[in-house]
Amino acid sequence: MAFSPQITYNNLMHTLQLRSGSIDARRALLEVPNEEILAWLEARGQAPLRARQMRRWLLSGRATSFEQMSDLPKQLREELAASFRPLGSDIARHLISCDGTHKLLLRLHDNQVIECVLLQEADRRTVCISTQVGCGMGCVFCASGIGGLVRNLTTGEILEQLIHARNLLPAEERLTHIVVMGMGEPLANLDALLEALAVATSPQGLGIGARHITISTVGLPAKIRRLADLKKQYHLAVSLHAPNEELRSRIVPTTDKTGLSAILEAADYFYATTGRQVTYEYVLLRDINDQPAHAAELAKLLRGRQAHINLIPFNDVEGLPYRRLTQQALTDFVAILRGAGLSVKVRKRKGADIDAACGQLRRAALAEPTLSPGVR
Ligand code: SF4
Repeated sequence: MAFSPQITYNNLMHTLQLRSGSIDARRALLEVPNEEILAWLEARGQAPLRARQMRRWLLSGRATSFEQMSDLPKQLREELAASFRPLGSDIARHLISCDGTHKLLLRLHDNQVIECVLLQEADRRTVCISTQVGCGMGCVFCASGIGGLVRNLTTGEILEQLIHARNLLPAEERLTHIVVMGMGEPLANLDALLEALAVATSPQGLGIGARHITISTVGLPAKIRRLADLKKQYHLAVSLHAPNEELRSRIVPTTDKTGLSAILEAADYFYATTGRQVTYEYVLLRDINDQPAHAAELAKLLRGRQAHINLIPFNDVEGLPYRRLTQQALTDFVAILRGAGLSVKVRKRKGADIDAACGQLRRAALAEPTLSPGVR
């Protein structure tokens, strides 16, 4: 979609659907174990295949209500609606950027809110999903980490982000890629994430290729090794942000006991085990980790590794003291890495006009009096 400078934050197409904070006690269908659904159906004299039909409606049929599940008996649809919710989350806010990026603020069953983002580029339809409410990793530049970790997301809550994002696409389009780079540390909620990705990659689920899924981590060595041993085709991105221990412990303070070498060794193990090149993410903060000496140190750290570096120029976040680096500093940083023979890319900023950076929309929404006081 062409960039339109006339469109600003104030006249974006956006919907505000902030609703009252009452909690619905019915469980979401994707949260209910299959055996329980089967028992529930049996008690009503219904065939087990109804369970598959219901899942198919949610995962590929784009149903958001039981009423829409037209091949289920009417009586059954009514009973389902009385006992369950088709989806446990709903869209509290939907922003659309002038570059075609959609950002959703989803309200969960307990009134927590999370973010997910749909990015549209050429023939790619990528959704960026969250794995936790808040985050405990404390990266100093990140809006998601400011309030700390609230709780892990369930498998169903992770899947529902994909469903909501997919439902925004025209009927003939489907999601092609997933990046697990939203709110939270994915490897700190690995079991729920793996279950959700199993459904996302299944032909009976969302049919997204495992090679098109990237899991990002600040670096939990034991979990990286576990992920490697599963020998899935998922891509691993390690958020490095600094070329030495001292600086990294200032930028990602909660991981200062882990040590860079343990993280790099685990990433090497991931490559050796899966054959999948590891991406290293590096958020560039002006005058903190963006100097030529940092680039040279980073080049030395990664030289000889099968690595790709993703540079992410920081964009100002209200309330945080960090600033975007200058264009000259970025050019110099890239040149030093490329000069050392490393593969480097600078991430383009998407959805800049809709607070698309991790955690910014949630943070802004939580500060609003219009949002239910129950939402925290
Ligand atoms: S950048 Fe990621 S890991 Fe770090 S605090 Fe934010 S959400 Fe957590």
